[in-house]
Amino acid sequence: MKNRKLLMIPGPIEFEPEVLRAMGEQTTSHVAPNFIKSFGKSLSLVQDIWKAPNGQAFIVAGSGTLAMEMAVANIIDVGENALVINTGYFGDRYKDILETFGAQVTMLEAPFGETIALESIEKELKTKKYKLLTMTHVDTSTGVLTDPKPIADLCNRYKVLSVLDGVCSVAGEYIHQEEWKLDIVLTGSQKAIGVPPGLALLVASQKAIQAWMDKKFNGRNYYSSWKEWLPIMQAYAEGNPSYFATPAVNLIRALEVSLNQINKEGVDVRIERQHVLARAFKKALESIHLKWVPKNDKITAHTLSAIYYPEGLDIPKFHKKMKESGVIIAGGLHPRYAATYFRVGHMGAITASDLFATLGALEQALHHGNHTFNLGLALKTFQNELK
Ligand code: PMP
Repeated sequence: MKNRKLLMIPGPIEFEPEVLRAMGEQTTSHVAPNFIKSFGKSLSLVQDIWKAPNGQAFIVAGSGTLAMEMAVANIIDVGENALVINTGYFGDRYKDILETFGAQVTMLEAPFGETIALESIEKELKTKKYKLLTMTHVDTSTGVLTDPKPIADLCNRYKVLSVLDGVCSVAGEYIHQEEWKLDIVLTGSQKAIGVPPGLALLVASQKAIQAWMDKKFNGRNYYSSWKEWLPIMQAYAEGNPSYFATPAVNLIRALEVSLNQINKEGVDVRIERQHVLARAFKKALESIHLKWVPKNDKITAHTLSAIYYPEGLDIPKFHKKMKESGVIIAGGLHPRYAATYFRVGHMGAITASDLFATLGALEQALHHGNHTFNLGLALKTFQNELK
């Protein structure tokens, strides 16, 4: 397949052929017995993968942003306080969403490539009564990994609901929703979950559902409302037909296939596999003098790499050569620093061969853009790291 491209951006990613084949199956009615079974099974697999046996799963047609909206629009009342932990572009988005629903938002914004210290979060939580806190597990604009557990601990101590944007982390970074007492963990289908774009997925704790029930002011949201979706999810989980808005039948079949694959491999085994590859990829590019946006290894995501252009690189030449190689990577996304770095996604069905191909193409393109290094060293380092 000489024109085949390798999609190495941080979502959408390369998908398993079996998942893509499921997308192409004949579409059935959304109330057909086989579809009800697929939907019910997917809901239960989502709970397994999130490690939230008592949580309420929602699977709705839409993208990750709908999941972000659904998570907060059902909980926050007009005038209530929300705290946004911002480690990049998607923190800004959460602020916008929350303000759309009338929240009073305070944002703790980390410097580019860094996280927020726990002490600063606690100090802020002491200043007033917050209804909820949002954090981005992996901010796709910076590649920064936030440790959600200690923040969720703080939220529990201060009686604040915690919302984890896991769009770039679920099934790619470790998550134990229930053990870590996270109230909502959300994602989109197109990243480490391994299904083409179009599904918003989230799991809400019983505490979050109770907060929604206690909410005084309802009705500012419609398509994202739990009033509409909760009975639908409950019906499908119990094997009964139901309708509010037509589910994405083919995507949900593909989701069932992908979640089954993840479950079969074991979610933690799968996550570890991605982490081993991510660490080796980082060592490989560091060996040819490239630097990462996240300030240290502890806060470096495993689902994508955000890498500074080396000094003196002819950036247009570099990207032209990458394009010719057929390996698709992404540019920067952070509004202020986008021109200084590029991004490579490596999650889900990723294999060592994909990263060999990517490293080979990157070496060629960097060489072409006049970056000086020992050609072949990144590939050799990668080999050695995986030995
Ligand atoms: N949050 C994060 C961390 C993301 O990476 C993205 C998508 N890149 C979103 C939210 C929004 O998801 P979507 O583009 O599917 O709406």
